[in-house]
Amino acid sequence: MPAVRSHCRVFNPLGWWQEEDPEKAGRRLLVIGCGPSGIQILRQLWKDFEVTLVEPKDYYEFTPGILRGLCHPQHLETLLLPLEDALAGMRVNHIKGRVVRLSERSAQVDSPVHGLMAVDFDYAVVAVGSQYAGNSLWKVSGAAEADELSLIGRRKSLEAMRQNLEDLEKEQKTLVLLGAGLVGVELAAEVKHYFPTLRVVLADRSQTVLPVLPKDAQDYAQTWLKEHGVDLRLGCELPRDETALLKALEIDEAKVLLCAGLGFHAGMAATLECVDASGQITTNRFMQCIDSKGHPSADGRIFALGDCVNVRGTEMRFTKDIYPAEAMANVVVSNLRRLRNDPGSANLEDCIFVRNGGVVTTGWIAVQMKHQVEVTKMGEMRQEMWGSFVWSLVPHW
Ligand SMILES: Cc1cc2nc3c(=O)[nH]c(=O)nc-3n(C[C@H](O)[C@H](O)[C@H](O)COP(=O)(O)OP(=O)(O)OC[C@H]3O[C@@H](n4cnc5c(N)ncnc54)[C@H](O)[C@@H]3O)c2cc1C
Repeated sequence: MPAVRSHCRVFNPLGWWQEEDPEKAGRRLLVIGCGPSGIQILRQLWKDFEVTLVEPKDYYEFTPGILRGLCHPQHLETLLLPLEDALAGMRVNHIKGRVVRLSERSAQVDSPVHGLMAVDFDYAVVAVGSQYAGNSLWKVSGAAEADELSLIGRRKSLEAMRQNLEDLEKEQKTLVLLGAGLVGVELAAEVKHYFPTLRVVLADRSQTVLPVLPKDAQDYAQTWLKEHGVDLRLGCELPRDETALLKALEIDEAKVLLCAGLGFHAGMAATLECVDASGQITTNRFMQCIDSKGHPSADGRIFALGDCVNVRGTEMRFTKDIYPAEAMANVVVSNLRRLRNDPGSANLEDCIFVRNGGVVTTGWIAVQMKHQVEVTKMGEMRQEMWGSFVWSLVPHW
């Protein structure tokens, strides 16, 4: 099995090869996954570390826009970017492949170019995200969808689905969307906008659409969907098997798309004993991977963030969205910088946020608030628009 070690040659994105500096030993950072959370780590840390990225896709995709991109080819082009463009100007060694096993100082990578290889590291960040049950169309997780790992393949697959929707509309057939959460509701709305005469059935066992959102949002979406002719079938138990589902909905023939069910696939980190029964990686508030007893794995040198984590020791649960992922990235970045400067340091960032004599929050949320105060205050001092705007909204009495 070939190995990438500290004294190897690394590819420089400016186009030339260079020998790795032995002085950089001890600063090898492995980033696993290049979704919204992984890319934040790369953008902020490529100057501080010798960074290797393992990511099976050769493109970056803006997931929140993908349901419109599916219906509208021109829009899709604005959402897809070759990964080399996203990494341009950063000294990052991208290995196209998947980490199949992560241990304390080394990762086993399955690469279509190099086969099985070992990548050694001093620090690692796991950002392998989540996958949507039954449908890789919404987000390519890198798990099994070999065809969609290339930009060309991804375009083809979305185009095939778009063509399928067009044909369904022409042939006056029915589209059933199973799951009236964020994905199902948004997709129903996009499909109705771009294929107005296509019959769309949106089904969920919940009594309402968007069950995780406030009632106002549910009412607004429900009214919109009804006004635009979406056939809502809510509050009934729905079998996942397609034939049984259509029978339960009393529909003879339809194209069914699954829009529910988030799964996790961080099993490759199982040897570190930080993966819970749902497949998520458990971390502490510093975003270090921890085992079931709360001890940091690999002496606290392996971090995880984004959709793939379950953070312990915080009062709130984090939603699987980009904003929390980016906030977690800031915690990982400051802790990794600190560890790089003082590798023995065990006391990672912590803080207490106090207002009007009471503790509002502690831990990394408080660290983030302090950081945001600092950034916006300094922006205000430099007379920048964002900092000045933020502080103009904060009452001082
Ligand atoms: C249709 C849709 C709409 C959404 N809309 C919004 C929205 O409006 N706002 C919002 O905030 N969020 C939205 N989300 C959620 C958002 O996309 C996720 O929260 C976000 O993508 C999580 O980022 P991540 O980096 O943690 O993981 P991911 O985006 O899942 O990225 C993980 C990366 O890791 C790679 N990977 C996986 N396994 C391995 C492995 N073993 N080795 C190496 N690489 C690996 C994958 O290829 C992938 O590139 C939406 C999601 C969907 C599906």
